[in-house]
Amino acid sequence: EAKIGAFIQYDLSAPGASGEKPQEDGAEPDEVLLRDSAEAETRLRGLPFAVKDNIAVEGFSLSCGSKLLESFVSPYTATAAARLTARGARVIGKTNLDEFGMGSSTDNSAIKRTNNPWDTGRVAGGSSGGSAAAVAAGMVPFALGSDTGGSVRQPAAFCGTIGLKPTYGAVSRYGLVAYASSLESIGILSDTVGRARDVYAVIRGRDPMDQTTGEIPGRSRSLYSSPGTAGTIGVLSPESIARALAGLSGPGAEKTGLETAARAAVLEDAVARSFELTKERFSRMGYTLTEVQLPCLAYAVPAYYTIAAAEASANLARFDGIRYGKRPARAENPNELVAQARETGLGSEVKLRILLGTFVLRSGFQDQYYLRAQRIRSGIRREFEVLLGTAGEPGPYDALLMPVFPTRAFGRDGAALTPFMQKAADIYTCCANLAGLPALAFPAGAEGGLPVGMQLLGRSFSESVLLDMAEQYE
Ligand code: GLN
Repeated sequence: EAKIGAFIQYDLSAPGASGEKPQEDGAEPDEVLLRDSAEAETRLRGLPFAVKDNIAVEGFSLSCGSKLLESFVSPYTATAAARLTARGARVIGKTNLDEFGMGSSTDNSAIKRTNNPWDTGRVAGGSSGGSAAAVAAGMVPFALGSDTGGSVRQPAAFCGTIGLKPTYGAVSRYGLVAYASSLESIGILSDTVGRARDVYAVIRGRDPMDQTTGEIPGRSRSLYSSPGTAGTIGVLSPESIARALAGLSGPGAEKTGLETAARAAVLEDAVARSFELTKERFSRMGYTLTEVQLPCLAYAVPAYYTIAAAEASANLARFDGIRYGKRPARAENPNELVAQARETGLGSEVKLRILLGTFVLRSGFQDQYYLRAQRIRSGIRREFEVLLGTAGEPGPYDALLMPVFPTRAFGRDGAALTPFMQKAADIYTCCANLAGLPALAFPAGAEGGLPVGMQLLGRSFSESVLLDMAEQYE
């Protein structure tokens, strides 16, 4: 832990860790997913787990990686964490993250630095980098994270763990500090696919405290529980991405950064090779692989950052030194107090996004940015629906296969990706959030001592299908 720095708080004796107050919520784990729920409960009992420090656990810190909340202790527990502790799993600590979940490296944490366990000179990814590093280093078998635009899957890929971002609304967000509410889900980082399945089966389902959760339609059937029965996979190749992005170039593209963005999406050789090997392996396993096109994908990153910043500017208004956050020692008037609290408490990336969000929501300009982004979002959702279908009416493909991120874990200083490149590289992950679909990152090999992750994206509530595919692959 000293070398990796995964935890903001590590506390085996904290009340949340003792399991003294199991919170019975009456939620039943999903039978189909678990196959044997009694056994899964036994498997979870006594297991230590870590929770990203933007998810509430009573008696533990809830810093969100921010100076503003550094000394804040949560008075309550998030539903997802409570459902696990109610079954005897134990919270042993809170993990580091990019401030409020904004970033792809965990280096945006104002509290500490987290290193990648495979190479401590490199980042663990982000924003759930602490959770991924803790699992990868074997400190915990699983951890909770949050995924707004890839924050569970990307650090999972960088650290060689499993990372599941569930369908929007499948897992309660009660107790998750909101960054971009319409995009995010609490997700799971784990050592094995089976473990992610156990955890997901317990945390998912309706919660009266989060009105976006509901009964899961038609209880996700496991399609591939008997080995040898394979399905169809749509492959989003680098060529189809390149074709989509080519539409963006043209006069003035250099000025808008679109060409840089297109470059940032190009896979590094090691990732491209792993992608090929993954395709070959799925083919050998009997799956039918077909290349697919997603023309709207070219607009995914700009739409994602417009919507995420807009929602962040509203969600983070509560951190004003009055309602929440460290209050300055003295100020002349309330306005100055708020200004001081935010000026000293928030990091530069957070400020940038609040400003950007305020900009796109300004009256008279909503048509130009925010509403346009929402239209792109609908377009992306429709394109996925054509390929994957819906929970009730499956489409031609059971899942889409694509990389998680164009690079392996990047380094710092000279070896770092610029903040702009990091955002542009979210192209493979942020579309699942825009469409509200489940996506699973899994380790697909390693090169140069660094893991490479691939991802399967499915129709709504098809987590069990994705888990089965990855388990066969494992
Ligand atoms: N890199 C993305 C961002 O900075 C992902 C964040 C997330 O999923 N929380 O917004």
